[in-house]
Amino acid sequence: MTNRSPILPPAWLGILGGGQLGRMFIHEAQSLGYKVCVLDPDSLSPGGAVAEKHLCADYGDEKALSEMAKLCAAVSTEFENVPAKTLDYFQDKGIFVAPMGQCVSIAQDRVLEKEFLQQCASSSGIGPVPYCVIQSQNDLTTVPGHFFPGILKTARMGYDGKGQTNVANTNELALAWQEFGGDVCVFEKKMPLAFEVSALVVRAHDGESTAYPIAENIHRNGILHTSTVPSPSLAKHPELSKKIIAASFEIAKKMGYVGVLCVEYFILQDGSVVVNEIAPRPHNSGHYTMDACVTSQFEQQVRAMARLPLGDVTLMEPVAMLNILGDVWFDQDQVVEPAWHHVLAHPSAKLHLYGKATPKIGRKMGHINCLGKGIQEVKDACTAVAHDLGIAP
Ligand code: ADP
Ligand code: MG
Repeated sequence: MTNRSPILPPAWLGILGGGQLGRMFIHEAQSLGYKVCVLDPDSLSPGGAVAEKHLCADYGDEKALSEMAKLCAAVSTEFENVPAKTLDYFQDKGIFVAPMGQCVSIAQDRVLEKEFLQQCASSSGIGPVPYCVIQSQNDLTTVPGHFFPGILKTARMGYDGKGQTNVANTNELALAWQEFGGDVCVFEKKMPLAFEVSALVVRAHDGESTAYPIAENIHRNGILHTSTVPSPSLAKHPELSKKIIAASFEIAKKMGYVGVLCVEYFILQDGSVVVNEIAPRPHNSGHYTMDACVTSQFEQQVRAMARLPLGDVTLMEPVAMLNILGDVWFDQDQVVEPAWHHVLAHPSAKLHLYGKATPKIGRKMGHINCLGKGIQEVKDACTAVAHDLGIAP
């Protein structure tokens, strides 16, 4: 029989990956009284700097996995490209794993992910973007004409717009596929987007589920730029919000998912909605929960993996989250610490920096949650803070 009892502090929890998501998870776990062991091959990882124990090794390193297994009562992941068999390893040892390897393996492969989302469509009511799989020369010639212009995406290891490229016609498709080394790819029709949103749902071991308010997301160069909550564009469409939340619950349930799951959606110019992708972990578009909700997405991940009751997802105030990329450290070729005191002069701007050693162009270094009484107020605060940091409007 499956063990249903809660895992209480001061037990050890394990987290695979010590990036910013791992670090914020660790902070919340520690705040609840747990000890955390993080596995990350980077000796300078943001999570490794704050965990009680940092195993500095690869995700398949047997010695490290065995050490983590001896120490931890439950294991989770912040990194969706962790080998699913690493999660299976812990599960086989009777350790509670949330989310399970089979959920992570769907999310880390765009082909499996699209197939799964297509299967969900009949019950969730929302299907994926029209797509086809490209894995041979022959596949290049059978793409229906109406898929152009489209986007070619590598099946594995893509994130923040990396591993994808716009394609206008069959010739460009063949070239782009060649440039991706002939790896398995999905080719999607480029959709006419009205706006983008993400749903953040949490599912407990007993199936109890809850959903945060939907975030409206703006991307720049394929990277999340801002998330605004409640979604201004959904304000006049409560039925659409309900449909998105219901579909996200259905996706989580069909996967037997435990933990925080983010589901990205596109709202098209004709008012219809399609599902883009899923992330089996707390998500950048859910960082607003850290300051604006009763329970943050990271605390929920701790609760779910420790088989504790889920926390209250109520939004206490409207919020706009601004991502801070390494770009703002660069003044010509010089690396200069941004003027955080100017940001913090906005009393309701909450700054979160991830402690990354080296700023790089496009690297996620932190975020700022701008709180306020209304949507316009938080948008204005976000614009002002971005201006202070020299981020283009
Ligand atoms: P990533 O894993 O990098 O987040 P996504 O598939 O979510 O990859 O793509 C990143 C962004 O690119 C999306 O948020 C959206 O703005 C744009 N995009 C991706 N696919 C499409 C599409 N089929 N049609 C229109 N825009 C798209
Ligand atoms: Mg995405």
